[in-house]
Amino acid sequence: MSSDTVALSICAHPDDTELLCAGTLALLYKKGWEIHSATMTAGDMGSAEHTQEEISSIRPVEAARSAAVLNGKYHCLHCLDIFLSYDRPTLTKTVELLRKVRPRVVFAPSPQDYMIDHETASRVVQMAAFAAGIPLLETPGYSPINYVPHVYYSDSIDGRDIFGDSIEPRILVDISDVIGIKEQMLCCHETQRDWLLKHHGIDEYVMTMKKMSAERGGRIGRPFAEGFRQHLGHPYPQNNILKTVLGDLVYERK
Ligand SMILES: [Zn+2]
Repeated sequence: MSSDTVALSICAHPDDTELLCAGTLALLYKKGWEIHSATMTAGDMGSAEHTQEEISSIRPVEAARSAAVLNGKYHCLHCLDIFLSYDRPTLTKTVELLRKVRPRVVFAPSPQDYMIDHETASRVVQMAAFAAGIPLLETPGYSPINYVPHVYYSDSIDGRDIFGDSIEPRILVDISDVIGIKEQMLCCHETQRDWLLKHHGIDEYVMTMKKMSAERGGRIGRPFAEGFRQHLGHPYPQNNILKTVLGDLVYERK
């Protein structure tokens, strides 16, 4: 398939994509786009009952099940939770992924977030999107891409930076029609949902996602939305391709 209709979400951990941008991925899928979802880690610290080895093999299966809801493919870069680093191996793996998938649109975590893994993933994706076109950066088997993809940063997990200040997205995507698909994808992460359910006695996982989406929806007078900031530094594309593809569902604030 042409890279013109391929979207790739790269997040730090399994379930980040589902919390942040799965609704927009679902809308692109409905427009005929090919969807890929990647995580830098296998979520190896995300359990109170399994060993690191066990949970590392369970969570990628959950993430793959979620991607399959959109007929999508899941990729894991097998870095480690908490230790996610802006270093040569991580950047090289990310460049390789971009050259393999060849996406037109890339979704990345917010550069400001409560957790450093998310911020590091954001920086790695930013640089990898730029570096994927550099021929002297070799990734055997995968040739450089000859364009810079559109990069969109999702909201931070709680919509704020570490100082408690809110992060305002300039782009809001109305996901009201696909909130059920977003919920279905999130619920594929059974280990995380069960963990919260057991400890809090309520379905906090789904509630948190819906609360975040409803807050963003409130900004545009719609039930649910997702917020984004587009990378507009040199030499990234300047046009808002989400607006071109999704039309009236995309609200832009200057
Ligand atoms: Zn995360």
